[in-house]
Amino acid sequence: MSTPVETDSNSPDYDAIVIGGGPAGSTVAALLAMKGRRVLVLEKSRHPRFHIGESLLPRNVPIFRKLGVFDQVREIGVEKKGADFSVPGAARHTVFDFARAIHPDEPSAFQVTRSEFDKILLDNARARGAEVRERSEVLDFRISSEHATVTVKNLDGDQKTEELAARYLIDASGRDTFISSKLGLKARDPRHNSAAVFNHFSGVPARDGEEAGNISIYWFEHGWFWMIPLDDDRMSVGMVSAPEYLKTRDGALDDFLVQSFKRCPNVDKRMARARPLDETRAAGNFSYRARRIFGDRYLMVGDAYAFIDPVFSSGVFIAMQSADYAADAVDTCLADPKKAARAMADYQRLVDRGISRFSWFIYRFMDPAMRFLFMNPSQRLGLQAAVISVLSGDVYGRTRLWPRLMLFRVMFSAVNLLNGLGLGVDKKIS
Ligand SMILES: Cc1cc2nc3c(=O)[nH]c(=O)nc-3n(C[C@H](O)[C@H](O)[C@H](O)COP(=O)(O)OP(=O)(O)OC[C@H]3O[C@@H](n4cnc5c(N)ncnc54)[C@H](O)[C@@H]3O)c2cc1C
Repeated sequence: MSTPVETDSNSPDYDAIVIGGGPAGSTVAALLAMKGRRVLVLEKSRHPRFHIGESLLPRNVPIFRKLGVFDQVREIGVEKKGADFSVPGAARHTVFDFARAIHPDEPSAFQVTRSEFDKILLDNARARGAEVRERSEVLDFRISSEHATVTVKNLDGDQKTEELAARYLIDASGRDTFISSKLGLKARDPRHNSAAVFNHFSGVPARDGEEAGNISIYWFEHGWFWMIPLDDDRMSVGMVSAPEYLKTRDGALDDFLVQSFKRCPNVDKRMARARPLDETRAAGNFSYRARRIFGDRYLMVGDAYAFIDPVFSSGVFIAMQSADYAADAVDTCLADPKKAARAMADYQRLVDRGISRFSWFIYRFMDPAMRFLFMNPSQRLGLQAAVISVLSGDVYGRTRLWPRLMLFRVMFSAVNLLNGLGLGVDKKIS
């Protein structure tokens, strides 16, 4: 049914329209509906649908509880107790066990099949009172002093477009970056420009015992590989590398991925009996951030605002945590417009804080000094616990991490200096 646009009224039909029903959109919609707000989610696909990004963080868990989906996620998920890291040819891998974080109150996370996970979250938004329309693509938007109005196309049936209005527009369109692309706000990250190639495989052994659900990260000369154990003997395996390496491909994408395994003996060995289960996919144009996260009557959440390299499995958590903050910000704006400027500025600051904390590690991930420190984690002065806290997602100020992280930065600079002097600290890894 079409909703008329009330250009001269102060009360359009929705308090908020959310573009996109991924983790960010479903979370902000559910939380706003739980606050009694009238919310509409417009999602262009129909769930369940494939999505990459299967490894979650422990700090996701409190958000699952808040949404009331913890049991459902646990049912479809593989328990992830930590992350392990390896360098080529090393006889051992280093395990970062979430139970050793400074505040290990959530000592594990989950690996999930995103089609199932995203459907749980979207169905939950519906159950919490949000209106959800799938196969509904937002084509355009405009802002007036009182409203945000979107043009939506029904991708099924009549293919008709209609206009819908709300007091706030929330962009959760993921890497489509709907608003920031339309307004020219999107800036590629000059310090990080990678691409990924990935597939699901059977016949790949998991780690032993307690480590069976861990994500494995392997450095190699052109980037890094991930292995994420899913259910039913499925392993998500992907490679993230500099675009220059991807340009060396002269055959099919599947062959290129399999040939790339040979560049990292530890990966090659684990993939010896692997069989691909799906088509090999790629994602490029990696990291970006919009120049601002909000404007008059709109704000962005999750990948619609920023995308950082997935090496620490931070994407879904950042998406859902920013959605949690966004729900509070929009609720404040709706309740008391005089507080809107402050609420939006606080929202920007909170989201940027988490992104910056992960980014410091990401920018240096390929540096030999970082490899050395990850492969030889120091138990002294709580340094390892601080790094594990970051890897758990404790990046929004809950724990006072900065003194220990500053110390870690000093150690990083020292290892770099020694390497620069030719003392080769980074070679003493395996
Ligand atoms: C190679 C790779 C590996 C990754 N690995 C991990 C990982 O291991 N762990 C992790 O946490 N994260 C990972 N990520 C990141 C993760 O995928 C994202 O951060 C996460 O999905 C962001 O959620 P979102 O809701 O912001 O966006 P999305 O999940 O992308 O959802 C956006 C939704 O908006 C819809 N949409 C878009 N445009 C429109 C429109 N105009 N109208 C209507 N609907 C629209 C889309 O159909 C989609 O459903 C990875 C990413 C990549 C590229």
